[in-house]
Amino acid sequence: MDDRARALDAAHRSATAFLGTLDERPVWPRASLDEMLEVFGGALPEEGADPAAVVEELARGADAGLAGIPGPRFFGFVIGGTLPAALAADWLVSAWDQNSGSAMLTPATVALERVAGQWMLDLFGLPATASVGFVTGGQVANFTCLAAARNAVLARAGWDLADLGLHGAPAIRLVVGADRHGSIDRAVRFLGIGRSEIVVVDADEEGRMRPDALERTLEHGEGPLIVCLQAGEVHTGAFDDFAALIPIAHRNAAWVHVDGAFGLWAAASPALRHLTEGMAQADSWATDAHKTLNVPYDCGMAIVRDPADSIAAFRTGGDYLVYTGLDPWDVTPELSRRARGVPAWAALRSLGRTGVAALVDRLRANALAMAEGLDAIDGVEVVAEVPYTQVMFRMGSDDATRALGAAILAEGTAVVTGAEWRGRAALRCSMSSWATQPSDVERTLAAIRALAAA
Ligand SMILES: *Cc1c(COP(=O)(O)O)cnc(C)c1O
Repeated sequence: MDDRARALDAAHRSATAFLGTLDERPVWPRASLDEMLEVFGGALPEEGADPAAVVEELARGADAGLAGIPGPRFFGFVIGGTLPAALAADWLVSAWDQNSGSAMLTPATVALERVAGQWMLDLFGLPATASVGFVTGGQVANFTCLAAARNAVLARAGWDLADLGLHGAPAIRLVVGADRHGSIDRAVRFLGIGRSEIVVVDADEEGRMRPDALERTLEHGEGPLIVCLQAGEVHTGAFDDFAALIPIAHRNAAWVHVDGAFGLWAAASPALRHLTEGMAQADSWATDAHKTLNVPYDCGMAIVRDPADSIAAFRTGGDYLVYTGLDPWDVTPELSRRARGVPAWAALRSLGRTGVAALVDRLRANALAMAEGLDAIDGVEVVAEVPYTQVMFRMGSDDATRALGAAILAEGTAVVTGAEWRGRAALRCSMSSWATQPSDVERTLAAIRALAAA
């Protein structure tokens, strides 16, 4: 066997062994960063090593510092696992090594991404003509969409950003909800819009932007306007009322952007689609494949209604009015890139339309079961409604809540992560993994029950 085959065999053996430990290993890593630096650090060795031996060394060394993210009881942050077809497709992407910025060189991977994008637009009920840029995740998808938005609203105000730059440009009013995701603020920071320029609209109890408050906010001020809405608030899972909000924004000539990192996928379920009603009227949407769709990191999608707006922001070269097809580098900030959309194609192909709907429905059913079980534990209180996949809970005091969170991580059965909601500590359980079974919800509840009692 040549070196490549031996190295790949070693990776296959190590990966299979790791995946085999997921049901029993502590879900939170056992080793700290310092311990991992101890294992892998030191001066660069003078001499090289056999490729297969390198793979074995790194797999052995990393084990204690790995989180059980692809396992069935990782409920921290909003993080999915990895579907089998998507995982294997990701390996192929590396073996193929296609620099997938343009169809000219890599037609196979660009076609796979184009088709995956079309399938997603179909699942989300978004216009089939929208551009879909595969980026690293929701953060960069928000950035990419908002860069297109900035360009477009300035162009409508008679300002050619590509030519004139930001200096002296009309001020953009960037309107967000009080419970937006932090990645929105970070995206606009990259875009040259300052913190003090962001206009915040009140949200309701569940974290949804209040339509009456948006209406009042937009009465004042003029000029280029971008309104950011949200499908899936990270704590409560709540969805903005798009059917009420988007018409208000559009009456004021706004570009409407929707951050739907995990929430857009509700549209793929006939049972949950109502949460996204009216969402298709927006101008851009950001979402992730590495959360709800369960593909490996990293994979997010920046979707823009009119591809000309993506192209105006990103195409290399000047002629953006006539195009014959969208190359990946026309619609995202990247040039050289891996074909990260291919695992998304494989995930969608392996699930089919009904499989995607069933996946989303299962996440929601697990979330409801978790909420019900948590509520029944003495001293534990579920904090908000569960419209989607997020469950927030706490104990009587902030200290007790934080102590329970730390105890859950140390005990090892599951991972939930801490949050703050309306000034109080909470714990958050995000149902995002395809691998979670009802028995995993039961096991997690049993562990939390014991810890809460202690
Ligand atoms: C996770 C998340 C993001 C950021 O996405 P990444 O994939 O982590 O870059 C943005 N918005 C929301 C609502 C999210 O849940």
